[in-house]
Amino acid sequence: MAKKLTDELLLGGHVSTSGGIYKSPDRANVFSFRTYQIFSKNQMQWKAKELDNGDVEKFQDSNRQHNMNKIMVHASYLLNMCTSKPDLREKVMEAFSIEIARTDRLGIDYLTFHPGSASGITEKEAISNLVDNMNKVIKPEQKCTILMEISAGQGSTVGHTFEELAAVMDGIQEKNKVAICMDTCHTWAAGYDIKTPEGYGETMDRFNSTLGIGKLKGFHLNDSKKGRGSRVDRHEQIGLGTLGLDGISNFVNDRRFRDVPMILETPKGEEGYGQDIENISKIIRIDE
Ligand SMILES: [Zn+2]
Ligand SMILES: [Zn+2]
Repeated sequence: MAKKLTDELLLGGHVSTSGGIYKSPDRANVFSFRTYQIFSKNQMQWKAKELDNGDVEKFQDSNRQHNMNKIMVHASYLLNMCTSKPDLREKVMEAFSIEIARTDRLGIDYLTFHPGSASGITEKEAISNLVDNMNKVIKPEQKCTILMEISAGQGSTVGHTFEELAAVMDGIQEKNKVAICMDTCHTWAAGYDIKTPEGYGETMDRFNSTLGIGKLKGFHLNDSKKGRGSRVDRHEQIGLGTLGLDGISNFVNDRRFRDVPMILETPKGEEGYGQDIENISKIIRIDE
């Protein structure tokens, strides 16, 4: 039997948890995914309902049944770990600790978050706040790995260059608890050439020399509505954006990343993954 795309790639997508968190593995399995991403709580709210023991058990059973691994939780968009406002800082750190605890409780490997933004402060101050806050919330006994996601550089967001992410990493005490998630749309919008094979090679070399390729533990696989260097974060369906199938092809055919989760966060969500998979199937080179 011919190998399927999802046999070759650790491809997944962001899926809904509506109706119960334990329903998400089934939703990912519809696409034969072996991994996926969820929000473990309402991403637009600070508060979260306690996880129910029965739900957690059903969730883990279903993951085992469907052979899901290297699952990601995406942290709430409200968390700005760069903030220096004292009251907000407390609130953010508490919410981040809850995100970590929930990820561990669910037995999930990765918690991905956006580094935040430097509103009203310098980028240097923002990075220093981020490092301090992360060092306070990361505990040695924590099981999950926190993935810092490269940003598109929109507005005053922090972390759109490998050097900036490396500066954060430098300050982290529990270095083995933190790694990087590369969003292909953000990386492109931030200005890196990942479309031509040469540009892609140079970009990955630069990643390796600043952060180390082993720190690249996850991808968000998205096309981009806006152009290279636009610094605008607008995802597009695979193959329909300015990065295009040429750009996506560099990632899905890089054998170094065969066991690294590649998560679709394309605008149509579960409605569009079928089409995304079809487009990736056109460019993937599979050894039979
Ligand atoms: Zn992303
Ligand atoms: Zn994005």
